[in-house]
Amino acid sequence: MSELINNLNEVISNIDESIKKGDRNKEDVTLIAVSKKKSPEMIKEVYDFGIRDFGENYVQELCEKYEVLPKDIKWHMIGHLQTNKIKYIIDKVYMIHSVDSIHLAKEIGKEAVKRNMTVKCLLEVNVAGEETKFGFTSSNLEENFKEIKNIEGIDVCGLMTSAPYVENGEDNRQYFVELKSLMVDLTNKGLYNKDGFFLSMGMTCDYQVAVEEGANFVRVGTAIFGSRI
Ligand SMILES: *Cc1c(COP(=O)(O)O)cnc(C)c1O
Repeated sequence: MSELINNLNEVISNIDESIKKGDRNKEDVTLIAVSKKKSPEMIKEVYDFGIRDFGENYVQELCEKYEVLPKDIKWHMIGHLQTNKIKYIIDKVYMIHSVDSIHLAKEIGKEAVKRNMTVKCLLEVNVAGEETKFGFTSSNLEENFKEIKNIEGIDVCGLMTSAPYVENGEDNRQYFVELKSLMVDLTNKGLYNKDGFFLSMGMTCDYQVAVEEGANFVRVGTAIFGSRI
């Protein structure tokens, strides 16, 4: 078995373990293989194993891979998105996880309306308050959420966060608990009234803890594809 498939098996079995530990339903947790900087050949190997959800950070890379890889892949845009590039990916992505400003949300909405479509989006929250990271803060999320959910062309489905890089995933548990409680709060206040919501949280260093705390999407790159140089 190739190293890639070995890695994948290990990640999947770790996720299964966390599903049990956190008393989660298997069908509520989706693994997104984060394939930025990795070749279409590597992606195809993971695809052939059965994975259909892939995460990309860069518009040009996403477009190039979209062209050459199977059309039933669900591409997740997880990186910071510039408004002038929305038009290149809007009809290629399954979901945009990284909506981090009202301005970006409005521009996505405009482009979607132009094409007579709606785009599934998550609002990015910088729960750990890291200065280098994009996203709303825990305290300004509510006012921004209210405004964005009313933008035509956008279908707000939940929240996303990138927790700090840590050696021990346990150290990020607090941030996953917080992201979930922000979403529960919006629901309880009647600001979110769809049937279910999606939380996108957990990366190589902390996906197991994230699954235990309610992640619906985990975004795992390094643990599957190896390190990026
Ligand atoms: C790169 C990236 C990931 C994957 O990170 P790994 O540590 O390689 O698993 C997940 N989410 C976002 C937003 C990323 O940019």
